Amino acid sequence: MITIQIKAGREKSALHRHPWLFSGSLAPYDKEPAAGETVRVLGQDGRFLGWAAWSGESQIRLRFWSFDERDTINAAFFKARLARAIAGRKSLAAAGNAARLVHGESDGLPGLVVDQYGDVLVVQLLSVGPEAWRDAIFDALQELTGAKAIFERSDADVRELEGLAARNGLVRGKLPAAVDIQECGLNYRVDVEAGQKTGFYLDQRANRRRIGELAKDAEVLNCFCYTGGFSLAALKGGAKSVESVDSSAEALEAARVNLSLNQLDGSRMEWVEADVFQYLRLLRDKGKSYDLIILDPPKFAPTAHHVERAARAYKDINLWALKLLRPGGLLATFTCSGGMSADLFQKIIAGSAWDAKAEAQVVERFTADSDHPISLNFPEGDYLKGLLVRKVA
Ligand code: SAH
Repeated sequence: MITIQIKAGREKSALHRHPWLFSGSLAPYDKEPAAGETVRVLGQDGRFLGWAAWSGESQIRLRFWSFDERDTINAAFFKARLARAIAGRKSLAAAGNAARLVHGESDGLPGLVVDQYGDVLVVQLLSVGPEAWRDAIFDALQELTGAKAIFERSDADVRELEGLAARNGLVRGKLPAAVDIQECGLNYRVDVEAGQKTGFYLDQRANRRRIGELAKDAEVLNCFCYTGGFSLAALKGGAKSVESVDSSAEALEAARVNLSLNQLDGSRMEWVEADVFQYLRLLRDKGKSYDLIILDPPKFAPTAHHVERAARAYKDINLWALKLLRPGGLLATFTCSGGMSADLFQKIIAGSAWDAKAEAQVVERFTADSDHPISLNFPEGDYLKGLLVRKVA
């Protein structure tokens, strides 16, 4: 096994069990490990720091599997880690039959995401570490869950930074004709093969439920609706009308199917294929107004480098949404940008309110649901932030 030493003074993050080490923290080494190879990581003084996966292409050169010298990184290790992660989701059973079983770094499995949709698992291997253990991971998942099918969706952009090509396809079992899930009393069909990410945004589950509670008798505008998650929740919650906007025709088609899978009054629902940035202005020109507006855009700032441009985009949509909101109305506004802090996001929304000449208050805060935990050693895991804002006047 290859040993990698950390430069003097750079051990702190590993001692605090942060799962990443960047290239600049490593002392010179003799032999380059292979991609995904497990290495022994030592401090400058020779003390053991952990076992980590080597990633020669990425700035994040090491991702720790374990900080315990007694561990052996083998198939049994992954099975135990997966079992621990899955056990942590038991309390969610009441919410339906879909859950994130493994949430990467925060579950001690850097680069690995596993979503469960009924009998089907969808897996993302996002770095060379889990890629090197793919068969052990798939075998253990099959044994632990009894899944009828495991589908791989390793097509996220971050794989490029690891020197990995996209990889999609069935890896175990056979897919059913349709993957249908239940969430908080609603039915959704998940396109695991071609939907966005793994097919469904499970992280918003609790927030969709909350929107359902807030939607009674409201005229609702749901921007970036994808397959209609918030839209159906609002309709079921008794919304007077729900107008849903997305730029993806495929997403809207799936949303219509989702509506048909539920006993809801479709006449109160309208689907619009449009660019939200333009459509909000159009609604303003038409003199429209709403009681409840949801803004759940895609990641505008994947990393801290993109924050400035992203800030302008968030400011813009929130400004127009606040103009369209009736006095007393509610805006549920989200950012899923890892590079955007909660603090900065709130400042941006304050700027939007200022420019919209609206007096507004934060009345609730949103985060990802509990199957997307945030390890206290990995604050970067806190990617989804949301505010419920009330327009006072
Ligand atoms: N709220 C959804 C998830 C939203 S994902 C849920 O609960 O399931 C973000 C969505 O924004 C995607 O469906 C994507 O197609 C859409 N999108 C991205 N850019 C857009 C734009 N400029 N205008 C409209 N929709 C956009």
